[in-house]
Amino acid sequence: MFSRILVAVDGSEHAHRALEVAIDVAKHYQATIVLLHAFPHVSDFLGTPFYESMLESRMLIGRSLLESLRSIIGDTVAVEEQLLQGPPAPAILRVADVEHCDLIVMGSRGHGQIAGLLLGSVSHVVTQKAHCPVMVVH
Ligand code: ATP
Ligand code: MG
Repeated sequence: MFSRILVAVDGSEHAHRALEVAIDVAKHYQATIVLLHAFPHVSDFLGTPFYESMLESRMLIGRSLLESLRSIIGDTVAVEEQLLQGPPAPAILRVADVEHCDLIVMGSRGHGQIAGLLLGSVSHVVTQKAHCPVMVVH
């Protein structure tokens, strides 16, 4: 039923739990996991060399997050990685379309601090606008 599962990760415990569910689903359907992380936009108003060093350090943090999660997934599931710059919700929606994902798995919340919300802004937008089923993990 599912062949390409996009898993959106922000380094939070919620996203970690979402990944664990996604690994189970991927094993069941022999699906590929497309692991996506979006890091905050780096303004080019910063000018060189600050722009380059800021971009490089954000990419480094993103890459090490994806790498550590990849090692959790192990060798039994095929994994692709997407590291993107900019707001996460549009990135998740775009990659899901372009990469022909048929399921998006994400946490209900992330690093956000506003207690009492059922969904964060990213999961709220993605569940409303996605063109495929979205599994939100509490
Ligand atoms: P908010 O960010 O609105 O303050 P929050 O951080 O609690 O709220 P969200 O950001 O909506 O909640 O996070 C919900 C899920 O969205 C996360 O568990 C993760 O799966 C995904 N997500 C959030 N940020 C990113 C990101 N930068 N890259 C990839 N996925 C993300
Ligand atoms: Mg967030």
